[in-house]
Amino acid sequence: MTTHVTIIGAGLGGLALARVLHVHGIPATVHEAESSPMARAQGGMLDIHDYNGQLALEAAGLLDEFRALILEGRQQTRIVDRDGTVLLDLADDGTGGRPEVQRGELRQLLLDSLPDGTVHWGHKVDGVRALGDGRHEVSFTNGTTVVTSLLVGADGAWSKVRPLLSDATPEYTGTSAIELYLFDADTRRPAAVKAVGGGSLMAPAQGRMILAHREGGDVLHTYVMFTRPLDWFGDIDFTDSAAVIARIAREFDGWAPELTALVTESDTAPALRSHYTLPVEHRWERVPGVTLLGDAAHLTAPNGEGANLALLDGAELGQAIAAHPGDVEAALAEYEQAMFPRSAEIGAQGDDFLDRLATDDGEEKSRVIADALAELAVAKRSS
Ligand SMILES: Cc1cc2nc3c(=O)[nH]c(=O)nc-3n(C[C@H](O)[C@H](O)[C@H](O)COP(=O)(O)OP(=O)(O)OC[C@H]3O[C@@H](n4cnc5c(N)ncnc54)[C@H](O)[C@@H]3O)c2cc1C
Repeated sequence: MTTHVTIIGAGLGGLALARVLHVHGIPATVHEAESSPMARAQGGMLDIHDYNGQLALEAAGLLDEFRALILEGRQQTRIVDRDGTVLLDLADDGTGGRPEVQRGELRQLLLDSLPDGTVHWGHKVDGVRALGDGRHEVSFTNGTTVVTSLLVGADGAWSKVRPLLSDATPEYTGTSAIELYLFDADTRRPAAVKAVGGGSLMAPAQGRMILAHREGGDVLHTYVMFTRPLDWFGDIDFTDSAAVIARIAREFDGWAPELTALVTESDTAPALRSHYTLPVEHRWERVPGVTLLGDAAHLTAPNGEGANLALLDGAELGQAIAAHPGDVEAALAEYEQAMFPRSAEIGAQGDDFLDRLATDDGEEKSRVIADALAELAVAKRSS
């Protein structure tokens, strides 16, 4: 007997689940809050790892299509000092196992791989209630409801499904990013293009870091990361872009102009992205008929793994459901048994990374942090 699967959230995790279920002939509906696939810009590049994200795409039967999206050369990783001195430069020799793709293109690939009508756009969940025997009623802000025997919360950091399983709520990590873009960079910002190189640039210092990516379409995409309390950002008026940029630029006074240009020449309004986490060991007792995946289950400080884990969760949950026809509980238990320790291990790495960035007792720390980042980059390259 095949149970119809109700998935909340059309992020990478929810879509990977829907796709793997489809491959196995299992019907699913994805309910997504956004009104359409184009409702929101999907962010920048993601490196998709051969030990998790790519395994998911293989299970989804989409590995060849994924490879067609790869932006060649983008695995190059460069760490520089504030004066632009290159401390570490790892070339993209094509063996890193972490090719970069545009997130929006990967999401579209998954969407295109689903039967028409699988995703119900404009369906924002505002409540879920247990009906007993593993059944749940999901209500949407558009006034509709569905009743399901298998509910999956793939609805990200602020999941509305999570309270069925756990009392945990995301907490601020102490770090936020301000996101900026430079367009037509080759012609308009050649010095910044040269500084960033072919892939990613990290310029770390005391409690702050410029992190920039060379993306497709002649774009430089920058996150300026600050380890600061939320109040610090609350004092900045994000409706006044020029003032925000001037405020950020002050933090990088005296830095090489090709680095500060990534901030001061931004073509977009600075967007604040504060980072939240769930407890690293977040888990729950089995509750009949419902589970979580991706950020809804294990939100970590950014460590380059979140999207990869969401993809793998979705694929493995789909495979577990296919392997246990008619036995939802066996499928969910098998999925959770593998997912909990995996996400705890990777979440702990994320915390460690953030701690190092926050370590902040003198100018000398710039080099110490750069060394730590270099170690991290090398470890990831060789893992
Ligand atoms: C600045 C930044 C940079 C990052 N960079 C990387 C990176 O380089 N590599 C990497 O692997 N990870 C990265 N991550 C982490 C990654 O983005 C997430 O871990 C990943 O997107 C999680 O996927 P998901 O499918 O679980 O959730 P999401 O991508 O958050 O998708 C959840 C979906 O659910 C929908 N939704 C939310 N609430 C509701 C509701 N009430 N009703 C219906 N639908 C709802 C949302 O609209 C969304 O479409 C980054 C994160 C941030 C913030």
